[in-house]
Amino acid sequence: MLAPSHACNVSRRLQRLVDGATVVAGKLRSAGRAFVRPLLTDTDVDMTLSIPEAQTTTIDGDIGWASRPPATVHCAECGGHIYQHRPDGTLDCPDCYAEYDIEEFPSLELSHFTCPVCGDEMVHGRRHPEQFDVPEWATCNRCRYHWEFEHF
Ligand SMILES: [Zn+2]
Ligand SMILES: [Zn+2]
Repeated sequence: MLAPSHACNVSRRLQRLVDGATVVAGKLRSAGRAFVRPLLTDTDVDMTLSIPEAQTTTIDGDIGWASRPPATVHCAECGGHIYQHRPDGTLDCPDCYAEYDIEEFPSLELSHFTCPVCGDEMVHGRRHPEQFDVPEWATCNRCRYHWEFEHF
């Protein structure tokens, strides 16, 4: 337990600290005022830039295997890259001339999807690995185009 006089000293010291902090805060406020304008201008610029991006997110997206982005799979024979633009397109290896049926797509190792908007490699994944042997989603980190295997 603190002696009453000690406690009193502490609270007086605290009061002095609080007073000091108020003065510092006041100084910061007046110093900050000079920077308020340029900061606001920066925010304006950022917001204008983010508007088209937000619209892209809502417009650019597809659902369903038929609207699947172009895919690149590994050839089971030689490991070469086979590019399939559409899901009903041919799966012919340009390196070893192996040919696959489109039904064989799930058995081939997928390298990546290609974003149909900006051409970047997309990231992909599955939500239910036990139900589907094909990716269920793919997303482009550059332009935010997003593809889904089905509604969820
Ligand atoms: Zn091959
Ligand atoms: Zn993209």
